[in-house]
Amino acid sequence: MKILVINSGSSSLKYQLFNYEEKTVIAKGLCERIGIPNSNFKHEDASGRDINEGRSFESHSDAVRTMIDTLLDPEAAILESLEDIAAVGHRIVHGGPYFSKPTVMTQSSKDAVRKCFPWSPLHNPANLTGVEVCEKLMPGIPQVGVFDTAFHQTMPPKAYMYGLPYRYYEEHNVRRYGFHGTSHAYVARRAAEMTKCGGDEHRLITCHLGNGSSFAAIKGGKCVDTSMGLTPLEGIMMGTRCGSIDPAIVTFIAKLEGDENKDVDYIMNNESGVRGVSGVSSDFRDLHAAASKGNERAKLALDMFCYQAVRIIGSYIAALGGVDSIVFTAGIGENDAALRKVVCDDLNFLGLKIDEEINASTHGKEVKISADDSSVEVFVIPTNEELSIAIQTVEVLGLA
Ligand code: ADP
Repeated sequence: MKILVINSGSSSLKYQLFNYEEKTVIAKGLCERIGIPNSNFKHEDASGRDINEGRSFESHSDAVRTMIDTLLDPEAAILESLEDIAAVGHRIVHGGPYFSKPTVMTQSSKDAVRKCFPWSPLHNPANLTGVEVCEKLMPGIPQVGVFDTAFHQTMPPKAYMYGLPYRYYEEHNVRRYGFHGTSHAYVARRAAEMTKCGGDEHRLITCHLGNGSSFAAIKGGKCVDTSMGLTPLEGIMMGTRCGSIDPAIVTFIAKLEGDENKDVDYIMNNESGVRGVSGVSSDFRDLHAAASKGNERAKLALDMFCYQAVRIIGSYIAALGGVDSIVFTAGIGENDAALRKVVCDDLNFLGLKIDEEINASTHGKEVKISADDSSVEVFVIPTNEELSIAIQTVEVLGLA
């Protein structure tokens, strides 16, 4: 069975075609700079094709048409007909209070995706465009929306409510939603398969540390708390996002900068985080390099990130009444052994110990990095959001 996964952004469209039984990628590609001059097409597939060339994409329709033509090219023999695709899974960033699981896209579910536009003005409209274009160009093939927020919908009200007047929740759905849900769900499922102590009582903390970073507290496979909020700005400081700060700082900066001149939202999303503090970069490889040459602000940014990570993990240990397993995933979590060591060493008081040799040599592969006598199992599990979307698409359609 072949499942196509689409991640449609405002100016790009990524796709992966899976052989579902083998969980392998048969073809993948990226249409970049849609609607912008110098658009580009990248595609690789099992026939050995490796395309990277300029193509004109005036719209998302052009991008999807190019993808379809490339997949159907008889010489490559990737697909004989579009009907070989059993279903299409679409990444949709914000499902608001409307989606707690993957959902087949119908008129009413698309209307609900539209209602979430205010909370995700950059992503949701582009995600929905991807769905609508595929409906038109691949008629008859089920289109499924898989939501970044859905996994977190099991949080109890005490975790998702903010201490604001209740009417903002009642009238405008202002609450914590959380993000990276597809990633947290995927690594949580893998951790449950890898751990000795799974089941309904399994207390797990997943740390998705990438350009954007978030944590989830998970009990028996269900999310009970997560660090991102109404938007992906809350929680730990990130590459360029400030994370949680005193809310009064927002009005303070607005006054300082002059409201019309500087958009505080922009400052908090794009000029803050480890880049804002270090003045060096949002990339942790650059921060380590600068810190090792004595750059004090790069070192401070790394120290702050690790400290905030430990603080959030600590609060989730309290929320879960203890912890059995911790997972590191995404670009930093999978690759930054030095950072994992600092965070884990600060949790030594729990009896958590990592195997330093295994940790140091683990990059982007599934490995248990805790020592045999550790009180908490620690795993590195590479995330695979596309495969997770394919799995959830198949499950919701009952195709497996
Ligand atoms: P996203 O999908 O959110 O764009 P990723 O999960 O791909 O982000 O993570 C990207 C980040 O991972 C980079 O900005 C960089 O900070 C970090 N990263 C990648 N490789 C390494 C590495 N070897 N050491 C430290 N950090 C790394």
